[in-house]
Amino acid sequence: MGSTMKKKIEVGILGATGMVGQQFIAQLESHPWFSVKWLGASERSSGRRYMDAVKWRLPSQLPERISEMTVTNVEPTSAPKILFSGLDASVAGVVEEALAVSGHTVVSNARNHRMDAVVPLIVPEINSEHLDLLEAQTRIKGWRGNIVTNPNCSAVILAMALAPLRQFGLKSVLVTTLQAVSGAGYPGVSSIDILGNIIPIVAGEEEKIETETKKVLGCMRDESIKPYEFEISAHTTRVPVTNGHTEMISVLLESKPTRNEIISAFGNFTSQPYKQECPSAPKQPIVYLDEDNRPQPRLDLDRERGMCVSIGALRHCSVLGHKFVALGHNTIRGAAGTAVLNAELMYVKGLLN
Ligand code: NAP
Repeated sequence: MGSTMKKKIEVGILGATGMVGQQFIAQLESHPWFSVKWLGASERSSGRRYMDAVKWRLPSQLPERISEMTVTNVEPTSAPKILFSGLDASVAGVVEEALAVSGHTVVSNARNHRMDAVVPLIVPEINSEHLDLLEAQTRIKGWRGNIVTNPNCSAVILAMALAPLRQFGLKSVLVTTLQAVSGAGYPGVSSIDILGNIIPIVAGEEEKIETETKKVLGCMRDESIKPYEFEISAHTTRVPVTNGHTEMISVLLESKPTRNEIISAFGNFTSQPYKQECPSAPKQPIVYLDEDNRPQPRLDLDRERGMCVSIGALRHCSVLGHKFVALGHNTIRGAAGTAVLNAELMYVKGLLN
């Protein structure tokens, strides 16, 4: 399964010119199963060569084949059946639904459909069984296609850090995020606001972290998702870091595990998609770092091609019991990388036909 296919599956990218869209291009350029054949963005970009429409902001070079492609608008016309979406939330709701109605499979990063009762919100290592919801999209909504989503970038990292702790009975969580500027898209926050500064409260993110994490950690019951119920409060901040969201997390666990038991739970968190030979799946989805001052964005972000969540500094919390630090790449693990892994998982499960 992991090897290159004879004929790759043609895919398109909605919002191809944005920060997440660029990361999709980087993730898919040498992909063994998928080949990018179509790029969609706004009227501002439509009709232009990709290299002229985009402000390429990744350290890897813009692939030549892609740079010459013409960007089109995002209507369900000539687009391939499988579409990755990095669309701005102001348009993603309507556009993605129209595409699903007309038979496309949209694998989306946008927030609009994440909490819809029949739309799976997937982090492949945690809740691949939630893909069973897709059947209800045809039955209840009458869509000929599908929408599958991944959570907000901070929620992906938090859900990965909390998933191994469910075995101890997760009761309460306090999280403070230190979010990179690339999380706000391009051009994002102005340099005069962010340089040498910290901006509290990333608009709308605290609620997303609190609700989406519960849905991801929840279980399928009676053809719907029963959220994992625990107390959670999120603080969010924007910090002058280019890539990588850091999260300071305190947890109250029912069964009172020891520090070593918690570290073992992080290390033993295995990846089913890796066993299923999904090309983007990290061998080790979570790594625990022993040094006191890790993880750090500059040192730890690119582990497992940006698909690993790094955890460290597990120590006693005098309020909730345990506290630690988690770090993940916001546009890879928190967005395009997880979405590509979602599509790989769907292929393995026979859901991309
Ligand atoms: P971005 O850099 O602002 O890019 C937005 C994209 O949407 C661009 O390609 C833009 O095309 C397109 N677009 C805007 N208005 C449009 C319209 N009316 N019709 C069609 N296309 C339109 O944003 P981003 O950071 O990549 O984020 C994209 C999505 O992913 C958002 O929903 C965001 O919340 C989500 N997300 C982002 C991150 C992150 O770390 N950045 C992480 C997780 C999820 P033009 O270039 O032509 O304007």
